[in-house]
Order: sequence, then C-alpha cells, then structure tokens
Amino acid sequence: MKILALFLCLGLASSCLADIAESRIVLIIDDMGNSLELGQRAIALPGAVNYAFLPHSPYSKTLANEANRRQKEVLLHAPMSNLHDYPTGPGTLTPRMNQQQFRQTLVDNIYSIPHAKGVNNHMGSLLTQLKQPMAWLMQELKQQNLYFVDSRTSPLTVAESTARELQLPTLRRDVFLDNEPTIAAIARQFDQLLRLSKQQGEAVAIGHPYPETLEFLEQQLPLLKEKGVVLIKASGSRSVSQFELHRQSTKLSIEKPFNIGK
Ligand SMILES: [Zn+2]
Repeated sequence: MKILALFLCLGLASSCLADIAESRIVLIIDDMGNSLELGQRAIALPGAVNYAFLPHSPYSKTLANEANRRQKEVLLHAPMSNLHDYPTGPGTLTPRMNQQQFRQTLVDNIYSIPHAKGVNNHMGSLLTQLKQPMAWLMQELKQQNLYFVDSRTSPLTVAESTARELQLPTLRRDVFLDNEPTIAAIARQFDQLLRLSKQQGEAVAIGHPYPETLEFLEQQLPLLKEKGVVLIKASGSRSVSQFELHRQSTKLSIEKPFNIGK
C-alpha cells in the first residue's frame, strides 16, 4: 500500500508527502457498557476512535452494535484481577481459575461483545503479572483471530511480552488520558500523547466515557488534522497490520506451488 501511495504521490508532490508523514494515534475509550447516555456520546466522537466494552454490562451489546454501524472498531474490555481487590464485575478472569474455567469465562466474554476485533484488559494489575494465565489468554485470542492491547495497569505486566512470544498482534498503552478526570489534567496527557505520536510515528491512548474526557475530545479531535495527526483503528496500527500482511504472505507462499504453470 505504501509503495502504491508513494507512486500515486509522485504527480501530486508536497501535500501528498505531508500525508505520508502524518503521525498516528490509536485512541481507545474503554469501560463502555454501563451508561447508555455517555456511551452514545462517546460513540459520536468524530473519526476512527476505538471502543472497548465490558462483558455482560447492561448496554454493551446495544452500544457495540451502534459503534459497528458507525464504522468504529469494537474491542472486548476483559476484566482481570487487580492487586487492590477493587470490584471488577462479571466475567472477571482470576488466578484461581483452572485452564478450563479460564477459557470458558474468556470465550463467554468474547461472544458477549458483537463485532469485537481485539481485547484489552480492564484493571488486571495482578493477573497481567502472571505468566500462565497470560499464556492461556493469548493462546485463545490467537485461536479467535483477535489482537491484544496491553492496558499496562502494572509496570510488571507480562501480557505484552507473552503475546509477542506467541506471535499475537499486540499493542501497548502509552498514555492514560484521564486518570485525573479534570480538563486541565486531560489536556496535559493529550499533549504528551501528541508528542509521543510524533516521536514514535504511532502512539496508543486509553480514555474513559467521563463527561470531562468527552467534552475535551469533542473539542480537540476535529483539530488533529491540522496538527498533522490522524486517528486510526487499532487493527490498522503498524504492529497489528504487519501480522495480517505476514499471515497473508505465508498463506500465499504455501499456495504458490499449486499455481505454477497456470
Ligand atoms: Zn477498565
């Protein structure tokens, strides 16, 4: 695609080159599903915003369907045990589960969210430090053809590294937008996100359907283009789409011998 884009650009010069140089942001709004009103307001945000829905929450199905209708990307927001005993809600994956219970809970969660293309963790500061449950998680996501976004709720998380070992397409959260849900704090985090996206080419942010976050994003997202930044779906990010390309080329090379001579 890039080569094709460059080719098409040769005749159009500078404006086109600026497009290629744009930095990219994967913005995920998670904890979706408990409020219909805030959920609908979040889904109405402009551009390629991604939404992660809690399993078995009152409005998750309705909102996930609505997000999909609006061409937004849907993720499962999988609840996992945390270090502080905060309540995590139905469908929580815990270290006490055996493999069968773990897998069944995860599969029920995945099937409860229509159109899910990937998964990120809700809480999970305890579970994401544990190698065995993370391996079970990634094996199942691989089976189901889903990518994983490590929310990084613990600095000791092994979720991302386990996903990479198993060659699962994976992303990591760079910035939480609204740990402090005030407009001033969200603005600081958003600036940090823009800086990282310029430095790295791509950056991943997680925010929540809080009124302050939504108000801030409603004002700021329409201004991204003039700052040379584009929002992208998580599945369109470099690390996820490279896997897709790799998958396709492996498929092609397997099939190739059958086409010789045709
Ligand atoms: Zn969450």
